[in-house]
Amino acid sequence: MGNPLAQSRRNDRAALSGSKSQSEPLYPLTIAYFSVLHLLPFGAFLSGVTRASVVACFVLYIVRIFFITAGYHCYFSHRAFKTSRIFQWILAIGAQTSGQGSVVKWAAMHHYHHAHSDSQTDLHSPKQRGFWYSHMGWLLNQRYESMICSYPKYLTKFPELMWLNKYYYLPTIVLAAVTWAILGWPGLFIGYGLSTVLTLHATFSVNSLAHLFGTRRFDTPDDSRNNWFVSLVMLGGGWHNNHHRYPRSARQGLCWGEIDITYGFLTLLAYSHAIWNLQTVALPKNREHRIAERWLTPAMNSSTCAAGRDGNSETFQQSAVRSRVR
Ligand SMILES: [Zn+2]
Ligand SMILES: [Zn+2]
Repeated sequence: MGNPLAQSRRNDRAALSGSKSQSEPLYPLTIAYFSVLHLLPFGAFLSGVTRASVVACFVLYIVRIFFITAGYHCYFSHRAFKTSRIFQWILAIGAQTSGQGSVVKWAAMHHYHHAHSDSQTDLHSPKQRGFWYSHMGWLLNQRYESMICSYPKYLTKFPELMWLNKYYYLPTIVLAAVTWAILGWPGLFIGYGLSTVLTLHATFSVNSLAHLFGTRRFDTPDDSRNNWFVSLVMLGGGWHNNHHRYPRSARQGLCWGEIDITYGFLTLLAYSHAIWNLQTVALPKNREHRIAERWLTPAMNSSTCAAGRDGNSETFQQSAVRSRVR
């Protein structure tokens, strides 16, 4: 006698693995692209490593993680803030230098993930298809293309974004050429190549690690987790259970100790009026609430997230998502 729910999940996995064994064509070009990218840093064994190339690697990693978390994710996928058309264009180019395709397609794929999280039809659920498939295997597989019905209309109305959708590879190629022109081969292999590989895997870890390991503050219908390691490498983008609960909030680190560097940068941009209408969730107001929150058990209901010991609780449901208007 076993747990019926567990049995049902085993049946789901069995059914899915059966369909997986049917032909699911791979993308040769994507496989070639990932192969070249992963081989690129090894060129440093021939060229050597310079201090400037290491600095470039670090800077390009941090800057592009910001463009991924704030651009691809917060802005283009979840419309967590508003900005000018010029800055939107900058965000799109910056995001696409990371080599993760057009912002329009990225947003469409991400919408699909939120609508089907960890169900059999999710694009990249580790629960359904295992760690490596959720990490990057799904990108090599043509299955995901056929599952995206349409691109978001709020993005397709911009001709410049559709141009970037058509020539999605240009920003990352231009960045590679610039690092090579300025810093030589070490710049290309380490400054561009290594930082791009690290950037890719950091992003992929949100789909794999942050749906497998970590704590669950909110009882969301998916397996999303708050993962400190993913948050560290994604500058705050790994408080993923918080994010699945409040997808429109630009702030993902909601409670004490959940450092969210991307949100910090976005706040600075809001102060400088480069962006506005920054969507966020209110933090508990006083220190007791923040301290109490640390000791609350995982998987609690959203209404008890910030409950204090004195019962004078401010809940995330009550505080809801508010808008910071400039
Ligand atoms: Zn997710
Ligand atoms: Zn999201």
